Amino acid sequence: MVCVFSIKHSNMAFSQMVREEALVACGRHCCLCHRFVGTKIECHHIEPESGGGDDSLANCMPLCFDCHAEVQHYNHRHPKGTSFRASELRSHRDRWFRRVSDTTLAIFDNERRAVDRDLFERLKEEIPESLARQLLKEQCWGQPISSATLDRVYSIDRFLERLDSEFLDPTCEGYRAEFFHAYRAFWKNDDFAQISPLDHNPDFYPIPKEWMQSGNPEIRQQFFDCMNKLNHLSTKAFEVYERMIRDLRRLLIIR
Ligand SMILES: [Zn+2]
Repeated sequence: MVCVFSIKHSNMAFSQMVREEALVACGRHCCLCHRFVGTKIECHHIEPESGGGDDSLANCMPLCFDCHAEVQHYNHRHPKGTSFRASELRSHRDRWFRRVSDTTLAIFDNERRAVDRDLFERLKEEIPESLARQLLKEQCWGQPISSATLDRVYSIDRFLERLDSEFLDPTCEGYRAEFFHAYRAFWKNDDFAQISPLDHNPDFYPIPKEWMQSGNPEIRQQFFDCMNKLNHLSTKAFEVYERMIRDLRRLLIIR
């Protein structure tokens, strides 16, 4: 049986050869967020067919499922945020392809390893193990948090998204990206969205404490569900942090 949707899209597909070339060029990392995603990767048309895009390698950008959804689902009729322009996507793609080919052409040389080692030290300064443990593992998100804690949550995010916080080596960069992703999955979560950094009360409740005190058992349950979810996501982010530190040490040969 032929699916109607496949007919609709049949004239809009990369050949096996183009896909393979693109996947080798990106090392199966997402070209936008840089995570290593293995088989969970899709080839995106930078310029859609409706905008004159073709099925060539030049128009192909491997993306993880999350980034693909984000790039595709921008609604021009109800714009929220800023959509990705084709030129912007292309420069992200080219930059990532270059980084992967740089490492495969020359062996990861000492000079570049030194740059990545410096960054590793900076990363550990910005997010020391003790801080990561305190914020992501020991903090219960059903409890109030101080504005200082909230500031730290923000500053870690700002550090992780800066361009100069990226590793040159794609494998190392994949670990940073993986942590950034897990970290954001936790605190950019809808349950956390209600906290404003401008709110300078001494203590914040990440989840409204009125929910916990409510006479309605469903609302109380909602409180505990949110708390469990945030605690689960932050613990997961801490596991990714520990793995990142361990693997970066190994890759950068740091004792
Ligand atoms: Zn991605």
